[in-house]
Amino acid sequence: RLKGLGKKGRDAPPVEHVHIIGAGVMGGDIAAWCALKGLTVTLQDQDRSRIAVAQGRANALFKQKKKIPREARAAADRLIPDLNGKGLRRADVVIEAITENAEIKRGLYAQIEPLMKPGAILATNTSSISIEELRNGLQSPQRLVGIHFFNPVAKMPLVEVVETPETDPDVLIATHAFVGQIDKLPLPVRSTPGFLVNAVLAPYMLEAMRCVDEGIRPETIDAAMVAFGMPMGPIELIDTVGLDIARDAGQHLTGQASTPVCLETHLARQELGRKTGRGFYQWK
Ligand code: NAD
Repeated sequence: RLKGLGKKGRDAPPVEHVHIIGAGVMGGDIAAWCALKGLTVTLQDQDRSRIAVAQGRANALFKQKKKIPREARAAADRLIPDLNGKGLRRADVVIEAITENAEIKRGLYAQIEPLMKPGAILATNTSSISIEELRNGLQSPQRLVGIHFFNPVAKMPLVEVVETPETDPDVLIATHAFVGQIDKLPLPVRSTPGFLVNAVLAPYMLEAMRCVDEGIRPETIDAAMVAFGMPMGPIELIDTVGLDIARDAGQHLTGQASTPVCLETHLARQELGRKTGRGFYQWK
């Protein structure tokens, strides 16, 4: 599976313009990353305030990564707010990063597909919905591909490229080339639950919480796994991902309906992790 990593699509023409729909946690940060890497990015959201928040995060990233102020400003200029989706018609790649709901995503595709450039790639950042389910109703279903970034986008080098036997080989070649162009590592994966990374991570995180239920302190588990060589312990990872998302993904991917008691306790107190300032650990 790893054999073709990064090699596919060496000769595909470079992407110049990416249009991103959904300026939330992921879409906003994918937009920032693409602008940092020199692409023109139009960022669309139905909620203007989400675009503004994403621009704020993007500017912080540009300042951190570009030491010359002129270059940081140039990156900021490449990231264009686009409330009405005008950029859709010009983009080489369209990345959908809206709410995780198949019906809402399909409804969006029906609106945008007729407006896209012929040959443009339609990509979804979905974590858990199959490509087969999403492409129903598309005029060119073979051009839908998954480009699954991980959170936080600027720190995670791997990107899963989700394919099905029906995906157009040219689309796959161009997608791998695009991911390489923005300095990420494309990993080809099948459209199966959790793809590859989350399928492995879900039981790992669940077992870590079962250890907490058995009385082992989160600090002890995390310290052990960091000493083992992981960049971050599993409990800190759960706090980073969000406890609500960890519960949904855990149930979906492990088939275990029962949630660890420690997770239930935090969820009942609305302690969802870093985003609320408290989860297994205190963040604020
Ligand atoms: P989010 O809720 O932070 O952002 C979603 C955004 O989409 C919101 O700003 C919302 O206003 C906008 N939106 C919804 N419907 C829209 C429409 N029809 N047109 C325009 N904008 C619309 O969600 P998120 O966490 O960024 O997740 C987005 C996608 O990325 C999901 O498919 C999710 O599974 C996937 N994903 C999330 C993570 C993560 O860690 N959060 C990681 C990898 C992949």
